[in-house]
Amino acid sequence: MSFVKDSVNKQPIVDNVFTIVSKAKQAIAEYGNDAVVNATIGSLYGEDGKLVALDTVYDSLKNLDNRSMAAYAASFTGNPDFKEQVYDWVLNGNSHLNHEVIATPGGTGAVDMTVSYCLDPGQTLVLPSLAWGSYNLMAQMNNLKTVKYDLFEEDHFNLDSFKKACLSAMEVQDRLVVIINDPCHNPSGYSLSKEEWNEVIAFLNECSKTHSVVLLNDIAYIDFSYQQEKAKEYMNCFDSISDNVVVVIAFSLSKSMTSYGLRCGAAIILAQKEQAVQEVKIVFEKNARATWSNINNGAMNMFVDVMKNHKEEYNEERNQYVSLLKERSDIFVQEAKEVGLKHYPYKEGFFVTLSMDNETRDKYHQALMDQHIYTVKVNNGIRVAVCSLSVDKVKGLAKRMKDIYDQVQ
Ligand code: PLP
Repeated sequence: MSFVKDSVNKQPIVDNVFTIVSKAKQAIAEYGNDAVVNATIGSLYGEDGKLVALDTVYDSLKNLDNRSMAAYAASFTGNPDFKEQVYDWVLNGNSHLNHEVIATPGGTGAVDMTVSYCLDPGQTLVLPSLAWGSYNLMAQMNNLKTVKYDLFEEDHFNLDSFKKACLSAMEVQDRLVVIINDPCHNPSGYSLSKEEWNEVIAFLNECSKTHSVVLLNDIAYIDFSYQQEKAKEYMNCFDSISDNVVVVIAFSLSKSMTSYGLRCGAAIILAQKEQAVQEVKIVFEKNARATWSNINNGAMNMFVDVMKNHKEEYNEERNQYVSLLKERSDIFVQEAKEVGLKHYPYKEGFFVTLSMDNETRDKYHQALMDQHIYTVKVNNGIRVAVCSLSVDKVKGLAKRMKDIYDQVQ
């Protein structure tokens, strides 16, 4: 007998990140901040060791009328001005497809809604093998199977593996749902080139001759791309999708606005045909109504205010942190190269991930903690969150990590 439905997996959640974060905090309390490297935190931290909360964002939020924060949103799909601003900000003129925007609780809401409603229980979701852990949990909660593609072949996107994973899902079902977390992939920091994106779209168009295709593009970290506006140009390749492909872009204010706790994001649905957009929108709207009802009105209004009235200051302020992130990652990657510390191809973003098999990873992760270096285990790797380490902490870190690595070999 059970109090929860029989079909749900009842194993407790294993949260790799929060457990290690608390160990790191304990170590700081015991040995002092200088003695500890806490490379676990996936949020942007300043050089002062504190969470970054952009002034332009929080000045705007605090200037809102109390009632603007107190009120329900204008609709289950989000406020019309929010949806318009999100579309313009994310696509930046690079897309000319039919579209709808649904406000969601963070990028998580957008990703989960797509995973939940584009596949039936028992069907297969296509994921990268190195990925944000929540994708697997979402698949599990929806009783989905997964098939994984290897992200890399040497230092570039592994198109062959991607194709194989898609084809194997297509053998057993009439729909293909694939997740591509790009740009600034979590946890590798890889971003596909425009050519790679074009190849992905050409292949998905082929698949769409026999199967409906949903491409879920998770862009959670896009606004911290080192390419900035140029990072959005790849989205013009979506204009060449066939009629039988729908793209859902999962956008998040969490990183873009440094507003992780405000829980605001959006799913942007793109398709050639209005009918395809509407089919997805109708279901997403009902899901919104049935689960979160509506989204944080203050967060949506803050986004609109920043976009309409403070965009320049916001870009300037954010770009200072983009440069800081680049400085940190440049140091780590350069030093890693010098000492021969192997990592997955990194281009930009919050994390660099060292590559190794899972057996070595487990020993190494513990050995690092013994030396007060706290990191996060991922599939075949160790994630180093350069986003939350000061420049001083990054300097020399690769060498220390390489020395410890050599000891566990
Ligand atoms: N996608 C990826 C790859 C992430 O790493 C995260 C957060 O860590 C998210 C989406 C969603 O974040 P949020 O729900 O806070 O927007």
